[in-house]
Amino acid sequence: MSKLTGKRAVITGGGTGIGLACASRLDVEGIETLLMGRDLERLEAAAGTLERARAIRCDVTDDASVEAAFKASGPIDILINNAGIAAACAFTKTSMDDWRQIQAVNVEGLVRCTQAVLGSMIRADYARIINIASIAGLRGGAYVAPYVASKHAVVGLTKSLSLEYAQTNLTVNAVCPGFVETQIVEDAIANIMAKTGRTRDQALAELAKENPQGRLIQPVEVAEAVAWLCSPHSGSVSGQAITISGGAI
Ligand code: NAP
Repeated sequence: MSKLTGKRAVITGGGTGIGLACASRLDVEGIETLLMGRDLERLEAAAGTLERARAIRCDVTDDASVEAAFKASGPIDILINNAGIAAACAFTKTSMDDWRQIQAVNVEGLVRCTQAVLGSMIRADYARIINIASIAGLRGGAYVAPYVASKHAVVGLTKSLSLEYAQTNLTVNAVCPGFVETQIVEDAIANIMAKTGRTRDQALAELAKENPQGRLIQPVEVAEAVAWLCSPHSGSVSGQAITISGGAI
């Protein structure tokens, strides 16, 4: 039996990609996972592939939806703030609505979910918040300014909350992947193909070369770092932004 058996984790965006990989990895540890997102049917299908998972509808941009979802989840030990969106566009063509949409999910959604659990987490004898940021939270990137700004905010929030609650048993860390083989990257490939006329292989190569290892990261590799941060023995690791990027920073 794992030391984490019986713990309960909320994973926002838990029905797909990195979120689902985290849920699968935590399931192996005996952790009950509560998968949150907007697409309930997809979440339920994902939960059905795991032993201890439940789907809960939640739009992280909506106060009432988050309040209802965390009421339905009951007390939790681990929050994985993973829900996120990305878009690529020249900054001169970025409207304020485009800007707000990305911040609303990637930053404000994370703040909303974190505030929903913080009160109980800072009184608990074990608690973890893990924010799925990005290497875009550590460096700049052309044509993705709103996304880069949102992920820098996630890293900044992680460091600040880690210090603010350092005297409790809560740790707050960020995981910063490079390009991971998920729907977000599929969309990026389609965008490059549409805007530049490159083939799929050329577009994929363009993204893979950002990683010194020359490949896309697999979701399970991100999930492994998340599982380590959940370990009871990782209690002195807090305020960190851990890159999962084949050496890229
Ligand atoms: P993904 O499969 O598209 O996952 C995004 C998830 O976010 C979906 O499950 C989606 O679920 C959820 N989501 C989006 N808007 C939401 C909202 N308003 N409320 C609740 N959930 C919402 O892509 P992914 O790559 O696994 O992305 C997961 C996280 O990793 C994101 O934060 C992303 O920025 C980060 N990341 C990804 C990469 C990469 O290369 N793939 C690299 C670095 C960081 P619903 O549609 O059901 O709401």
